[in-house]
Amino acid sequence: MRIELVNTGDELLLGDTINTNASWLGQQIAALGLMVSRHLVVSDGAVIKDAMAEAASRSDVVLVSGGLGPTNDDLTRESIAELLGLPLELNEGIKANLEAFFAKRNRAMSASNLKQAMVPRGAEVMDNPFGTAPGLYFPAKLSHARGWNTHFFLLPGPPRELKPMMEMLVEPRLRAMLPDGADRRVLYLKVTGVGESDIVEKVEKKLEAVPGLTLGYCIRNGDVDVRLSGASEPVEIGAAIVREHLGHCILSEDRRIIEEVLVQILTGRGQTLATAESCTGGYMASRITDVSGSSRVFGHGFVTYANAAKQKHLGVPAELLAEHGAVSESVAKAMSEGALRVSGADHALALTGVAGPTGGTDDKPVGTVFVSLASKGEITLVKRFYYPGTRDRFKLLSSQAALEMLRRRLLSLPQG
Ligand code: ATP
Ligand code: MG
Repeated sequence: MRIELVNTGDELLLGDTINTNASWLGQQIAALGLMVSRHLVVSDGAVIKDAMAEAASRSDVVLVSGGLGPTNDDLTRESIAELLGLPLELNEGIKANLEAFFAKRNRAMSASNLKQAMVPRGAEVMDNPFGTAPGLYFPAKLSHARGWNTHFFLLPGPPRELKPMMEMLVEPRLRAMLPDGADRRVLYLKVTGVGESDIVEKVEKKLEAVPGLTLGYCIRNGDVDVRLSGASEPVEIGAAIVREHLGHCILSEDRRIIEEVLVQILTGRGQTLATAESCTGGYMASRITDVSGSSRVFGHGFVTYANAAKQKHLGVPAELLAEHGAVSESVAKAMSEGALRVSGADHALALTGVAGPTGGTDDKPVGTVFVSLASKGEITLVKRFYYPGTRDRFKLLSSQAALEMLRRRLLSLPQG
């Protein structure tokens, strides 16, 4: 089934608004085991008509977002009526809904809003619980007069309106169009600490040999999502292959990122985590606190950038700093143990490194980072990593390595 997207809005072309609808719709459609073939972004106004015609001429389904509003440049509704030769008719139900919407907010309804109650004959109205513009569905038969066999879905542009409508009203219809509609799965196995090329080497050939399985990779934030789609049986076979060969490195099978996984495990065990950061400047603590519910497991995050701060807050001995330097195995270890002691947490992660671009030396070049994990009643671990590149990437990958160290300890996996 061939699907195209048409997104309308000058703000998308000007770059003022990022086209998040295109990426979100792409993911939703991928979750049905399908893929968007193309997307077009066009200006507000009448050009939408040509864009829809172009998309329809080569697609089974055209999904349009935007241009359903009340203003003069909102012409999607009028354009499709012209395109398919359907007269616009006042829909009393939508009119009543609009009147109720404005009455509830104690606002007067302007005449221009009535335009949103006009429906091309034969189109099905899709209610919009979060705005005034209803969506419209045009079954393929309405396009036969043009020589097409294309279903059109028209959705409003604002994401908070578009998303629920897509999930509740469009997806069930798309599913019904698929020959094996009921049996479509997509599974994302999030793999951490292994490069894409290693993943390819370990599993690609075996996965490609599974009939009916579609395979994809997506690298994001240092992890790789291995995407398996198709009917449930091939997806399960594929997942078993990935689990067998990359088991320890699979972070999640539901797109959760490492901080979410950790907060969940720690919460389940009633354990807590503290952080002591130098080169990452609090970035790791920020990642953890991005997770809702993190307050149950996270109480102390030390940002000890200066040597004096490492001494004062974490009790790192001045002699260690003088002898080995702040970026060293022994200081990382002292930081994590200090954070564990001061916070009373069950686990403490520490990071100290050279983010660059300056400050590197021959034996500790820019990108060197020491990561340490201290846990109550267990030996303290320290590992050295090398992540040269920009400062933000250095922070991302260093914190990722630290969080992964904790995940492995919590799950009793080898530290690798
Ligand atoms: P309105 O009644 O607000 O005009 P509409 O259905 O006509 O709604 P648009 O005019 O296309 O929709 O978009 C309204 C707003 O929604 C835009 O100003 C923008 O903030 C947001 N928006 C539109 N398209 C996208 C998109 N592709 N991705 C993210 N946001 C978008
Ligand atoms: Mg608009």
